[in-house]
Amino acid sequence: MGNKELELGFQKIMDGNRSWVEFVKNDNSGRFEQLAKGQSPEILWIGCADSRVPANEIVGSRPGEVFVHRNIANMCVHSDMSMLSVLDYAVTVLKVKHIVVAGHYGCGGVAAALSRQQFGVIDNWLCHIKDVYRLYAEEIDNIQNEEEKVNRLIELNVKEQVFNLCTTSIVQNAWKNNQNLAVHGMVIDIATGKLNDLKNTIYSNEKLGKVFAFK
Ligand code: ZN
Repeated sequence: MGNKELELGFQKIMDGNRSWVEFVKNDNSGRFEQLAKGQSPEILWIGCADSRVPANEIVGSRPGEVFVHRNIANMCVHSDMSMLSVLDYAVTVLKVKHIVVAGHYGCGGVAAALSRQQFGVIDNWLCHIKDVYRLYAEEIDNIQNEEEKVNRLIELNVKEQVFNLCTTSIVQNAWKNNQNLAVHGMVIDIATGKLNDLKNTIYSNEKLGKVFAFK
């Protein structure tokens, strides 16, 4: 005796997989046989967990082309072992060439961080975004429109997460070893699908400042 609605939902998952299996079976390019043997993606994507921002689709890529880590509001928190493990594997083992931190306009996580409301356990995660707000409080407070306020903080948050990634020993050691690695900040417009490049790509530790750049 199960819940009818849940059973139907589960059925939808399995039906979806049957269609995928069919698609894979009809693909004659040999790429799925190749993928089964291993991966060598060139991109690490760090995005928001939001269901509307699927990494692969947004950059028009296929399975095997993007290594992905997603969490609430695409945060790169220095002590987050999950993010650090993904980053280390992507950079040190897979040797990705590009890391994309991808925020999205209208991000609920950032909007929540700008409010004084409590949402539960997530409040402690959102504190990392409040920390970013503190760096840019003057600019944000000067914006009158609420939506624009959130969207500006979304851009600034991505910029800060790019910086956070670049200060990790993982990224800096890759540069030290002359690995070609660029860290980009982008914001997705869900309505148009367009990626807004924040044009703050970092290619080396030269401009990180002396406290952050390892010798
Ligand atoms: Zn989001």
